[in-house]
Amino acid sequence: MNLVFLGAPGAGKGTQATRVCEKYRIPHISTGDILRANIQAGTPLGVQAKSLIDRGMLVPDEVVVGLMRDRLAQADCAHGYLLDGFPRTLEQAHALAQFARIDLAIDIAVDPEMVVDRIAGRRMCRCGESYHISMHPSPICDKCGQQLYQRDDDKPETVKARLEVYREQTEPLIGFYREAGVLRTVNGAQEMDRVFADIVGVLDGQH
Ligand code: AMP
Repeated sequence: MNLVFLGAPGAGKGTQATRVCEKYRIPHISTGDILRANIQAGTPLGVQAKSLIDRGMLVPDEVVVGLMRDRLAQADCAHGYLLDGFPRTLEQAHALAQFARIDLAIDIAVDPEMVVDRIAGRRMCRCGESYHISMHPSPICDKCGQQLYQRDDDKPETVKARLEVYREQTEPLIGFYREAGVLRTVNGAQEMDRVFADIVGVLDGQH
């Protein structure tokens, strides 16, 4: 099954995507993770992306569309995948529709005001795990033992810009996928396990 996760920054897309991909054994494809890996490695793409990401702005459509076109052509995507953070604009959604069939788009719905707090307490690991300081006060990753860090774009001033970009450019995708007949909505304000159970309910209901 080819899935898209929608939702504001901090809605829990990444956390839920990790769990869904473990359960259904499909690759978790996060444009944010791919871009951060490029920044880390100092590639030309990483250099271009960093200044935009740090300001809460989007990387140009043609750049991420090109990345995704290559990524989805890889063998591990043949039996389904989960897209986390892509598409983020209507242009990206239209481009994606040219080379992929999306079976379901799951919107993890949250009140944008609520995510500001969530994001402020978020801590990441370079292995891809993410935590919240209220539930995981230790600065060390449980999975791999590396030191956790706060994303530069999780600082409050950047979060505000990201939420604006979300409202203007990404939220319209809800209507796009509703019209395509593949939209499902789960309540992302619930506790994490409950959100996961609802997503599993949606996915298992498809078979
Ligand atoms: P994320 O990890 O999904 O929150 O993404 C972090 C940042 O990477 C975003 O705020 C954007 O600057 C950039 N980014 C990630 N995915 C996309 C995308 N599909 N289109 C444009 N920029 C993106």
